[in-house]
Amino acid sequence: MRIAMIGTGYVGLISGACFADFGHQVICVDKDADKVAALTRGEIPIFEPGLDALVASNIAAGRLAFTTDLAASVGKADAVFIAVGTPSRRGDGHADLSYVHAAAREIAAALAGFTVVVTKSTVPVGTGDEVERLIREANPAADVAIASNPEFLREGAAIRDFKFPDRIVIGTSDERARKVLGDVYRPLSLSQVPLMFTDRRTAELIKYAANAFLATKITFINEIADLAERVGADVQEVARGIGMDNRIGSKFLHAGPGFGGSCFPKDTRALVKIAQDYDVQLRIVEAVLGVNDHRKRAMARKVIAASGGAVRAKTLAILGLAFKPNTDDLRSSVAIDLVADMLKEGAQVTVYDPKAMEKAREANAIAGATFANSALEATQSAEALIIATEWPEFANVDLEVVKGKMTTPIIFDGRNLFDPETMGKLGFHYHSIGRARVTPH
Ligand code: NAD
Repeated sequence: MRIAMIGTGYVGLISGACFADFGHQVICVDKDADKVAALTRGEIPIFEPGLDALVASNIAAGRLAFTTDLAASVGKADAVFIAVGTPSRRGDGHADLSYVHAAAREIAAALAGFTVVVTKSTVPVGTGDEVERLIREANPAADVAIASNPEFLREGAAIRDFKFPDRIVIGTSDERARKVLGDVYRPLSLSQVPLMFTDRRTAELIKYAANAFLATKITFINEIADLAERVGADVQEVARGIGMDNRIGSKFLHAGPGFGGSCFPKDTRALVKIAQDYDVQLRIVEAVLGVNDHRKRAMARKVIAASGGAVRAKTLAILGLAFKPNTDDLRSSVAIDLVADMLKEGAQVTVYDPKAMEKAREANAIAGATFANSALEATQSAEALIIATEWPEFANVDLEVVKGKMTTPIIFDGRNLFDPETMGKLGFHYHSIGRARVTPH
């Protein structure tokens, strides 16, 4: 199949590279000329494990290319995927569809021959209808079908998720579109991945419902963690105990400082807004948003309490900036919020992240923080150490060395990387999530 991928961000680049790896002919289009030039030189603008090799091998095989020329790419394609951003609209929390609509208009003018236009971006219910209206209005003669194909990949495990998904959701009632998308995903259906065909609006709602459900699961265990702390229980064990029940499942039950990232916050907010537009109140999802916002502020207060009641002029080390490990994505990262809060409180903050330092510097989101070259360097003379992202290398840090470098051995572990008992034995004041506080034995 000949595929044009409009938008070469996290989703567009990974989807494009994986489709090329399936054997399709893929052209990735982006408005950002610098990004396209860098990709053409083989430079990958994001950190995602395995992505550089995947892109390089498919460029070399002649199946993957990058361009700013949308019209030429669309004109030759059997399927055009829209994978542009749908951020929260400033002020009201609705999904901002301006990029999707602009892409649809540009695509309309360039269509030639039967083409399936597929929304891969996460979009509110009814967006497919609007994309269809825009395209038919701009180009009434176009032979086109509009489908929805939401993406469920996770950053940090994106290639694996794309190549071995739990399911593929395809929303369209057009037979020709079903056939084209069936062919696009044939390598996956051959390996028994379920292709779920449904109508367009249902496909759009499946994506939001999935993200809202996962955000709810995280928020649920976070609240149970607060209770566990008070009653002297261990939330990790609670999560294990309930997660072994197949009806519940063990994933997304890791208590932490609240969810962040490029999808859950904006998508839960957008789902609440979609429901309000239809006079439906999603009380559970609204509560999830409220609890999560409150939790982020509560984390800052907990760090301050753990650091002796005030952090003004104190030296803090914060490990982790990305919203989760194995990515350099800082969008709505709880770690960034925490660093910003500590700076506001007057702390001297030294930060380290294995992959997200450059983006944090560029974004200027935490001006005033000092950037260390390693986790150990960050802990030098620290009066408290805060773990904000669970990068595996932080779990493997030599704690004896860390203790030797710190002025006071206080650790606030927002990701439960360490065993409390061991931390007490090592001589730390150790605070974690949903588990007993430990003082040096
Ligand atoms: P992103 O911001 O990383 O990338 C979007 C890209 O689209 C940018 O490079 C931008 O320059 C480009 N673009 C915008 N308008 C364009 C146009 N008219 N023509 C060509 N290029 C254009 O976004 P992302 O994280 O890849 O997310 C894309 C969509 O996928 C969103 O709706 C998001 O919710 C959804 N999604 C994201 C993830 C994730 O983990 N990031 C997972 C599943 C779904």
